[in-house]
Amino acid sequence: MVFEGAISEANRQNSTLPLGQLNLTTEVENFPGFPHGDLEAYLDSAIAPDRRALMPPHEKHGASGPELMELMRQQAVNFGTRIITEDIVAVQFGQRPFQLTASDGKTYQARAVIVATGARANYLGLPSEERFKNRGVSACAICDGALPRFRNKPLVVVGGGDSALEEADYLAKFAATVYLVHRRDQLRASKIMARRALEHPKIKVLWNRTVAEVLGNDTDGVTGVRLASTVGEPEMTVEAAGMFLGIGHTPNTAFLQDQLELTPKKYIKWTVPFRTNTSVEGVFAAGDVADDYYRQAITAAASGCMAAIDAERWLGAQDH
Ligand code: NAP
Repeated sequence: MVFEGAISEANRQNSTLPLGQLNLTTEVENFPGFPHGDLEAYLDSAIAPDRRALMPPHEKHGASGPELMELMRQQAVNFGTRIITEDIVAVQFGQRPFQLTASDGKTYQARAVIVATGARANYLGLPSEERFKNRGVSACAICDGALPRFRNKPLVVVGGGDSALEEADYLAKFAATVYLVHRRDQLRASKIMARRALEHPKIKVLWNRTVAEVLGNDTDGVTGVRLASTVGEPEMTVEAAGMFLGIGHTPNTAFLQDQLELTPKKYIKWTVPFRTNTSVEGVFAAGDVADDYYRQAITAAASGCMAAIDAERWLGAQDH
């Protein structure tokens, strides 16, 4: 049984609707098995018509995030998975079988549980940022950076940690200029990453700045950003075709109420090397909820497979 999350306004605002982070992205060019091409006929044949009708039109590219997720969902359904469109809001891992409470108030019992609730990218929380999501505002340079809309254009990256610098370095391959907007006068990133960015001819750091507003219009998407100063300087406007956030991720672990051991950054801790075990026997974790390092569709999918095998073998050993 899979709880895919509820379709609620709270989940929409939190970027935690069913089908997860991938469902919020456009093209996915790096998922093995889905090269650039026309998947239209395949999608029509594989996905139930009522759900297919709701999907955005397919353009010629590798699968889109929503397409990949609908295909995965359908594949699970084909194998007899029962999917419940509710959140799990509370767990009792101190008793056996485990007890889980769903957002509709129903409780469920399980002998083994795999937690794969993912993580969500942090955004600044500006209304103008929300308006241009997927139209120039992105929290994943590796996912979106190579899109034509960003080629040879000036781009903005927000943040001063390793993620932001890695994004800036990656985007500099395609962009005309990358402006790194950081709220302090010192980078948080490791020395090597900082040096690479500071010495890069296409990366320009705008120190002591925060984004006050994302500028743009309905035709072009993002056209620039308005920047405030954290040290009393006048506001400034920078022309840009995109704004990439590199200000960290938040794992979706609050509902666990610390019943599993978490890392200091609140990710679930894998307790056995090269396994998906957690601090509670019979509870396994997969994907970004336990991984703040790779964070790719393929690595998350692979760890899901590992968790399924770990859970199955654990159940077998329990004689259930
Ligand atoms: P991070 O180290 O927590 O850095 C987040 C950055 O975003 C900080 O510079 C922070 O500014 C800034 N920030 C946070 N909230 C902000 C806001 N509301 N407005 C403006 N700026 C904001 O996160 P991360 O870069 O994602 O890195 C996470 C971990 O992964 C780190 O341990 C990192 O070393 C690791 N990582 C490693 C690599 C690599 O080695 N290749 C790549 C990516 C990530 P302040 O500095 O002012 O707090």
